Amino acid sequence: MGERPGGLRVGLDVGGSKVLGVLLDGPDARPVVRHSLRLPTDHGTEGVVGTAAEVVRGLCAAEGVDPADLTGVGLALPGIVDPRTGTVSHAVNLRIDLADVPVAALLAERLDPAGRVPVTVENDLNAAALGAAAVTGHADMALLALGTGLAAGLVLDGRLRRGHAGAAGEIGHLTYRPDGPPCACGQRGCLELYASGSALDASWPAPDDGRPVPAALFAAAAAGDPGAVAVRDAYADAVAAAVRVLVLGVDVARVVLGGGVAHVGAPLLRAVRDAVGRQGAASAFVASLGLAERIELAPADVPVGAVGAALATSPRPVTVPMPPVAPAVDGPVDRTPRPATDAPAGAPPASAERMD
Ligand SMILES: [Zn+2]
Repeated sequence: MGERPGGLRVGLDVGGSKVLGVLLDGPDARPVVRHSLRLPTDHGTEGVVGTAAEVVRGLCAAEGVDPADLTGVGLALPGIVDPRTGTVSHAVNLRIDLADVPVAALLAERLDPAGRVPVTVENDLNAAALGAAAVTGHADMALLALGTGLAAGLVLDGRLRRGHAGAAGEIGHLTYRPDGPPCACGQRGCLELYASGSALDASWPAPDDGRPVPAALFAAAAAGDPGAVAVRDAYADAVAAAVRVLVLGVDVARVVLGGGVAHVGAPLLRAVRDAVGRQGAASAFVASLGLAERIELAPADVPVGAVGAALATSPRPVTVPMPPVAPAVDGPVDRTPRPATDAPAGAPPASAERMD
């Protein structure tokens, strides 16, 4: 165990209301979801570990295997997650209030006291970015999550970029309006206050029919309501600013829109592309970067967070299908051949390694 990439592994996306698990098979570059299972989350450390164990056992039962047969179990969690130590701190919406809670070790012990099941933890946004990269085949991309907050997960050249302090992609706290309202982070006018799903929810009345606010707002704008058009376009401008930061900062080939607002679908994509076009109209330089063509929606039918959590268990490089010919980029690119992987014959060469 531990040397071959892929094999049977489980990924769990642990949220405040549910734990969604998948059982994956196949190599990292061609993962196949064999089973999925969703259970309500019990809160607190004991509750989270217990729910996670129940989902793992359910998935193993569906496959007819024992948890000890898995090559790994990966958890994607919100909060401050340290993949090196397997600990989670201050995951407020899971009611894990303490620092450095050894969630990985607790789940490993619960699943198999003999210690045969390696368990890893990953930040939920990073896991979603890995999963989206594997599902879309984009080896170089940002997953821009338009949810409660605003942040991006980065997969650069096929490798997850966590950052020096684990803060890579926290673009929601870049200043967008210097004279804007105070942000919970202590600054003013942060981009998150304009481009997050929460910001959109606060800017339009909730409809009586139970639809989410973004769906109602975009429908009203499409019907020509001038107030809705103004709110939609201001929101799209803020999201477009986030896209510009990601492309100008790290020149990702794709910016994939995820999070709750992405359920709006094509009208959101169109509005953000239009906004990018408006913002780039005055700059031949920005226009030359083709920002609008880099934006797409996250896959709606695959639980990318759980898939990414499973992929993050790999002790080998986390690989993403790479294009046979990489697009031209500025500066030198490392073309050093890497050790062959177990990718199936005919698959594009895999590259990229994890740092840890
Ligand atoms: Zn802030």
